Amino acid sequence: MNPEKAAAIAERKMQFLFQLRSRGVRDKAVLEAMEKIDRGAFVTGLFAERAYEDTPLPIACGQTISQPSVVGLMTQALNVTSRDKVLEVGTGSGYQAAILSVLARRVYTTDRHLRLVQEAREVFDTLGITNIIAMTKDGSHGVAEQAPFDRIIVTAAAEDPPGPLLAQLKIGGIMVLPVGQSDAVQSLIRVQRTETGYEYDELRPVRFVPLVEGLGDP
Ligand code: SAH
Repeated sequence: MNPEKAAAIAERKMQFLFQLRSRGVRDKAVLEAMEKIDRGAFVTGLFAERAYEDTPLPIACGQTISQPSVVGLMTQALNVTSRDKVLEVGTGSGYQAAILSVLARRVYTTDRHLRLVQEAREVFDTLGITNIIAMTKDGSHGVAEQAPFDRIIVTAAAEDPPGPLLAQLKIGGIMVLPVGQSDAVQSLIRVQRTETGYEYDELRPVRFVPLVEGLGDP
């Protein structure tokens, strides 16, 4: 690579991390994971050159890759440890799952679109990531055969936290998800399961594509 190109890439990386920090992503492990996982690997075609902007971008199947600062804030709120088994609902491009894979022991991720799951798996392979299991599945029912999970993250908005996901969260576990009507502003919430029930915290307004029942067109 010529020195000019290398310098441009280094500059872009610094800008990317600066934006994350200035929007509240402060956790060192999360920042390191986001430095390691190149968002450019998950955005192809027309929008590839905008991969390092702090903005959501269109991906296949009419879906979006989330805004990096929102990915960072959600990951930070999830407080993942290296022993954790994590479930993600909404694989999309696979970017969020890849970041989780750096922090967690194992990541199960599901999407209702076969094509997105297949493409994400290819990117995981290219990046040498081996602790993500990606499944084509309606994730609103969770993944009962792998439950309970230490952490659950949902990257599509439901009106309320889906009951099966609450049930598949370990006691002491944390779930982060957007809730609210799909065409309005939603709230990002954090749910902690205790011995006796669930505690809810509202984190910030967000906007996600809706959580949709059933499988999508392949
Ligand atoms: N986390 C993704 C962004 C996800 S966009 C990333 O890092 O790129 C939301 C995704 O949720 C879409 O791909 C959509 O197909 C998926 N989705 C919506 N409803 C779903 C459901 N019931 N089960 C699984 N995936 C669902």
